[in-house]
This record gives sequence, structure tokens and C-alpha cells, in this order.
Amino acid sequence: MIPFLDIKQLNARFESEFKQEFEAFLDKGWYVLGDQVTQFEEAYARYCGTQHCVGPANGLDALRLILEGYKIQNKLQPGDEVLVASNTYIATVLGVLQAGLQPVLVEAEATAFNFDFADLTRRVTPQTKVIMPTHLYGQLCDMEKVHAFAKAHKLLVVTDAAQSHGATAVSGKRSGSLADASGHSFYPTKNLGALGDGGAITTDDKELAQVLRALRNYGFEKRYVSTYMGLNSRLDEIQAAFLNIKLKALDTDNEKRRAIARRYLEEIKNPAITLPFWDGSDNHVFHLFVIQTKRRDALAAYLKETGIGTIIHYPIPPHKQQALSDFAHLEFPVTEQLHKEVLSLPISPMLTSQEVSYIIEQVNAF
Ligand SMILES: *Cc1c(COP(=O)(O)O)cnc(C)c1O
Repeated sequence: MIPFLDIKQLNARFESEFKQEFEAFLDKGWYVLGDQVTQFEEAYARYCGTQHCVGPANGLDALRLILEGYKIQNKLQPGDEVLVASNTYIATVLGVLQAGLQPVLVEAEATAFNFDFADLTRRVTPQTKVIMPTHLYGQLCDMEKVHAFAKAHKLLVVTDAAQSHGATAVSGKRSGSLADASGHSFYPTKNLGALGDGGAITTDDKELAQVLRALRNYGFEKRYVSTYMGLNSRLDEIQAAFLNIKLKALDTDNEKRRAIARRYLEEIKNPAITLPFWDGSDNHVFHLFVIQTKRRDALAAYLKETGIGTIIHYPIPPHKQQALSDFAHLEFPVTEQLHKEVLSLPISPMLTSQEVSYIIEQVNAF
């Protein structure tokens, strides 16, 4: 049996270091916003190539807080519009709504799973103030195009970088340093995953970082002095300790994911299946390896029978979710098609080459 992702196995490599850090944590007795959080924020900013990193409790809050921060800076007003891809994970849309702004969904394209740039032009209005691409499945969005569009329409650029830790553009810039501000998630299944929830915001904007540091902690600029209406959304100290250990393995894990992707792309040969586009560069960290097929449900059932776990990312687009019924009248044919046809194959960096061969064999036999 090859599960879709065995997180316990992923983390087992670090067990003795985790135990050591947990002992130190117990000895110290400092549980919230301590040295480990500070150390991780510095290390992750350095890793991404930004001046600042602030750690909130999760990726959803990271996205929401960036927008709340811009509101405090008067760069955004309640109700301003934010361009978001219609095939993104629900959290991108919720982050915008929870910040009191209006998500404007944009049609997707089925090659890089990102914005259809022609549709972007149709959706932008004088109320549009932010463009918020998601580096979906671990592949960087075409940020040159995004920045050109943002410049033409005077928009802030915020990226949802929850799936793209370590992805590197041809310029050498890493995910997290390609926008005015970026939100990251350390949910356990992500390429850099904690042993619980965690998030980060990276930016070069010193004033924004300062506001966000306060906003994640009741708006306190000093203890018990609330300057803003903040949240309680702090990266947990013990999770930061675990992340400090795991960050060191991120690049080699991403390289392993790319090696598996390379094999899938070369060796999967099945006319019923469309493989994902990849230019072969480090701009993709294969958080997910997403194939498309008209016979998606049959393939998933077949693979299950042969002992291979798969997951659908995602079965329902945001505008068809009951929770977002205000968007239900919208139509995004490409996005809707994608949600019917996508299937994610296992791509854990722990997969053995025999396991990868077995998966390829079974996919080809379908
Ligand atoms: C995981 C994820 C989030 C949300 O992160 P949480 O830490 O689960 O809140 C946001 N956007 C995308 C694209 C994600 O994959």
C-alpha cells in the first residue's frame, strides 16, 4: 500500500532532534512568542530573501493579516476588490472576505493552473486594489506578467505562497520575495510542514511588518497597549522549534519531489491522461503532482484497488461551495472542468524508486 502522503514517515527523520528541542522547550518554560519564533522568522526571511518575516498561527490568517495591515496603512479600504484565481484553495478567498474586502474571481487556464490573463483584464475595475495569485500546486505564477498588470492598474501584489516553499524564479528570487507581501502556511502536509498549524508573512516593507507584528497579538505595540484591533494569531513557539529543524531539509526534499516529477513526466504514457506542464526549472516544487483525465473517478478507484492513494485537489471550486453562495451565479468553465478532471498522484519525498516505478506501471496499465 502506497498512501497518498505518509506525514509520520516524513517527520520520523527528525524525531531525535524534535525530542531534544522539546526537552529544551520544557526546561525553558517559555511557551508563546519566544526565541524559537524569532529565530525561525529570521531564518525564513533569509531563506525567502526578504527583509522581514512575521509568524501568525496559520496560512489563512497570514493572508487575512496582510490585507488587514494594508487597511491600517490606509492602502486599502473596506470593500476594495481583490483579484483571486477561481481555482484556488478556499482559504485564499476566505482570507479576503475575512479582511472585509471583496474577492473577484478570475478564470483559470489548464496548463499552469493559474490566472487566464485575458480574463484578468475583463475583471479589473476602478475598485480593484490588489492582485493575489496563488502559486498553486507549488508552481510559481508568471510574476513578470502579474507585476506588469499590477503596475498598469496600480495594484498591490500579494501572493498566496502556501504551496510553494522554496520555488525559485529564473531571476533567482524565491517564493515569498516575489510580491509586496506573501502568505505562507506550515500545515503538516505542506512542503515545509509543522507538527500542527503555523504560518508566515514575508515582505520587504518594514512598516507593514511592524503593523503585522502587533496585529497578530491583539494589536499590542507594547504589552497591553492595543494600537489596533488585532487577532490572537501567533506562530506557536514549539511549532517554530520544529520548523527550525525542518527548514534545513526543505531544499533536498524539493529536489526529491522534482526528481519524482521528472520520472512521472518521462515515463507516464497513457493517452487518457494529461500530465502537468513544467518548464524543468526550479520554479516548481511539486507540492502536488496533478494530472487531468476525463475518467478521473475510474482512475482513482483503479489506483485504490492496486494499493495507491490519490487525492482530488480540489473537488469543488470556491464559487460552488455552499459557504460562498454569493458567488454561485458565476461561471468559470475552465475551472469547473478542472475540478472534474484533476487527480493528485503521490509525490512524497520519501517515496522509493520502486514505489515510483510501481505507480507509473499502474497508471500506464489503466
Ligand atoms: C494550505 C493553504 C492555505 C491555508 O493554510 P492553513 O495553514 O491551512 O490556514 C492557503 N492557501 C493555499 C493555497 C493552501 O494550500
